Amino acid sequence: MASLNESVDVIVIGSGIGGLTAAALLQELGISTLVLEKNRFAGGSCSSFKRDGYSFDAGASVFYGFADNDSSGTLNLHTRIFRKLGVEIATIPDPVQIHYHLPNDFAVPVYYDSKAFLGALVARFPHEAEGIVKFYRELEEVYEILNSLPAGSLEDVMHLASVGISFPAKTIALALKTFRSMGKTARRYIRDEELLRFIDIEAYAWAVQDAVSTPLVNAGICLADRHYGGINYPLGGSGAIPRALCNGIEKFGGTIRYQSEVTSIILENGEARGVRLADGSEYYAKVVISNATVWDTFNRLITDSRFRVDEKRFLRAPSWFQIFLGVDASIIPEGFHVHHVLVDDWQNYNQSGGTIYFSAPTILDPSLAPSGKHIVHAFVTAEAEEWEHYERGSSLYRNAKDAYAAGLISRIERILPGLSKAIELKVLATPLTHERYLNRYKGSYGPLLKPGQNILQKPQNTTPVKNLFAVGDSTFPGQGVIAVTYSGVSCASYIARKFGKSFDYML
Ligand SMILES: Cc1cc2nc3c(=O)[nH]c(=O)nc-3n(C[C@H](O)[C@H](O)[C@H](O)COP(=O)(O)OP(=O)(O)OC[C@H]3O[C@@H](n4cnc5c(N)ncnc54)[C@H](O)[C@@H]3O)c2cc1C
Repeated sequence: MASLNESVDVIVIGSGIGGLTAAALLQELGISTLVLEKNRFAGGSCSSFKRDGYSFDAGASVFYGFADNDSSGTLNLHTRIFRKLGVEIATIPDPVQIHYHLPNDFAVPVYYDSKAFLGALVARFPHEAEGIVKFYRELEEVYEILNSLPAGSLEDVMHLASVGISFPAKTIALALKTFRSMGKTARRYIRDEELLRFIDIEAYAWAVQDAVSTPLVNAGICLADRHYGGINYPLGGSGAIPRALCNGIEKFGGTIRYQSEVTSIILENGEARGVRLADGSEYYAKVVISNATVWDTFNRLITDSRFRVDEKRFLRAPSWFQIFLGVDASIIPEGFHVHHVLVDDWQNYNQSGGTIYFSAPTILDPSLAPSGKHIVHAFVTAEAEEWEHYERGSSLYRNAKDAYAAGLISRIERILPGLSKAIELKVLATPLTHERYLNRYKGSYGPLLKPGQNILQKPQNTTPVKNLFAVGDSTFPGQGVIAVTYSGVSCASYIARKFGKSFDYML
């Protein structure tokens, strides 16, 4: 039986952005890491895959955290991490975060320039001009606090004490804001039902929950930083981010093993000691970090029933049905924005398939497609249960996917007339694809807070199992590439202290 010697300090299960970030920061401090990834490539939901000359983003394509100056605060985590690792990553600024296409001919692009965005909203809702300004100002206030505090672990008493002593007023203000919801805050200032729907889709577009269920603190990052640090797309596609993190890990002597699926976490006397792989090999370490979801970690990789996670403990976000298209470039008009969100009917925007997310990253980086072609990537929420009865590879499954995709493509023709005739390549993915490729229970986007729960109730990096830590979107602060990056930073900072290393929180 193969085994790695005890000299590996940390094993990371999975090379999602959370896991890679933790591994890279620990390795840079001289704490040896081994990342075990099931797939042949790194990045999980933030990876790229190639097909017939196209390079598609498997999931994420709206990126925060790449602001490139010191005055842009502490939320520019990607810039700070890559600078610390000495790894280059080129990005292209996107002038519009999302162009919304909503019922009743309501369309609004969210420009980098907040004045232009708020001006477009006020033009539609002149009677709510004051409320609009006040609501978005509240989000900016959260952003300004967060952007001035160093990133670190909320479980690290030393870190909390140092932040509290250095920034007492901001710490108290932030603590009070963690009890507030985005939607309830909006209702303090805004009455118009259609505008409140817009606030809902502003939350749903990234949180997959309505505004009332979305913590104000999360909204303060996503809906304010887009006008400060801005949205930046990595040259070469989303896979450039995990590639750069892997370069950082390897540069400092760490190891990433692909096609290495962990099937169980080895426990001794209730403590994590290592992992067992699908081929039976075992690896041991002082600390294990799981980048798998909370359900996969505790109900699959750990078989000890004492640690079982009750299905009712978290709301399970849906999975996705995705369409990856190679299209004739002439279908995308001049000036078309990269990211779009489409809602046909407010009655079902938050139901399975109700909201369409769209991106055409080749508008920013034409090298992702053959000359004269564009990429169209579109997806909607979907439940694994809607697809589980199909046998993989069967014609029934193929036909069901094709029929569902045809319906979505025809809905997208509202913003791209003639799309169905311009398709040259079509790749489809269901929740079953997500479950299989990403090892995510039911292909879920991850656990969500229940309405009314405080953001701090999200699990942190420590777990009920000694020496087992968690990173990724099952942990605080939640879903999104910049959020899981934060989870990697906080986990690395906590573990570094365990190893007696000092961690530069500001990176
Ligand atoms: C369709 C879609 C669109 C999105 N759009 C955006 C966006 O525009 N902007 C944004 O910021 N975020 C977006 N997100 C969310 C974001 O991509 C995720 O929240 C984030 O990438 C999750 O990172 P993670 O660290 O939790 O790991 P994951 O991405 O879940 O990766 C986990 C990795 O671990 C591996 N793994 C799991 N179990 C094992 C095991 N037992 N053994 C070995 N390897 C294992 C998996 O193969 C995978 O590579 C999107 C997500 C999806 C699905």
